[in-house]
Amino acid sequence: GRAGKSLFEAQRVGRGKIVTHGGYYASPAAVRDGLRNGEFFLHFQPVVDLVTGAAIGAEALVRWQHPTRGLVPPAEFIPLCEASGSMEVLGHWVIRESIARAADWRRLRRWDREPVSVSINASARELASTGYGAYVLAECADTGLPPGLVRIEVTETDLGTDTAAVRANIRILRGAGVLISMDDFGTGHSSLSRLTEIDLDVLKIDQSFVAVIESGRDSPVADLTIKLAATLGLQVIAEGVETEEQAEWLRQRGCSFAQGYLYSRPVPSDEFVERFLVHRSAARP
Ligand code: C2E
Ligand code: MG
Ligand code: MG
Ligand code: MG
Repeated sequence: GRAGKSLFEAQRVGRGKIVTHGGYYASPAAVRDGLRNGEFFLHFQPVVDLVTGAAIGAEALVRWQHPTRGLVPPAEFIPLCEASGSMEVLGHWVIRESIARAADWRRLRRWDREPVSVSINASARELASTGYGAYVLAECADTGLPPGLVRIEVTETDLGTDTAAVRANIRILRGAGVLISMDDFGTGHSSLSRLTEIDLDVLKIDQSFVAVIESGRDSPVADLTIKLAATLGLQVIAEGVETEEQAEWLRQRGCSFAQGYLYSRPVPSDEFVERFLVHRSAARP
């Protein structure tokens, strides 16, 4: 039956890890209960300008405070939600909540500062589901958030399922001004020609290519990604920046934006507002 198939899929999708009999905890009923009980919450990680240190936006990252399992990381439960059919209900909550917070930020931001965007991760199934783009835009309309302040993060793997629905969602979103970011760039299997076929706005350098920059060592992949982004006219954001040395290396090569523990861990919306929107001085450098 359906449950059996879901569990089998859960075992395959667990990012190299073998996930056994854990699939049940992310069933649609469990996720609905968890949402009702307030077990899910979002943290936001600032995206900063590498030169000024000011936040240009933040990425929404979901967490699950499970009553018996404790704090479960998204890398563990997102694949289970995808496999068990609960991703849509969770994804809708993430979108609604992220856009509501970004609408708050817009109201709180000083009038003389650039507005900040919110980045939302899309899973493969969400992106391939009819109505995904329309749902994002409906939430923008409801909250008054301009779609231009929303970024949807997709991975090369998500785009691998290049169905008509994926293309339609991207077209609807971009048509309304939403930006599309390629997450974890360089870790998937897409070819360069494929990259130029997709309508993209942002390349995010995967944190693994930033982590190798240490004690004078270069990152050829990060270097190439920055050049590629410039050639294609895309914005480039480095992920996982943890040291000033990495930040400096990236700045020198023309990378404009970054995320990482050097600037901030993912934090509750209130803390993001307090540290990055109200008291800008807390931002580095
Ligand atoms: P991602 O979108 O590539 O997010 C970046 C991950 O790197 C986050 O892990 C973040 O906490 C972590 N990170 C940020 N800065 C640093 C740093 O300086 N050093 C290190 N070592 N790590 C850093 P997190 O929050 O555990 O999320 C993992 C993945 O789960 C995300 O990768 C994303 O693919 C997925 N995810 C998170 N939230 C959602 C969501 O709402 N929907 C979907 N579909 N996927 C999500
Ligand atoms: Mg992301
Ligand atoms: Mg990433
Ligand atoms: Mg990732």
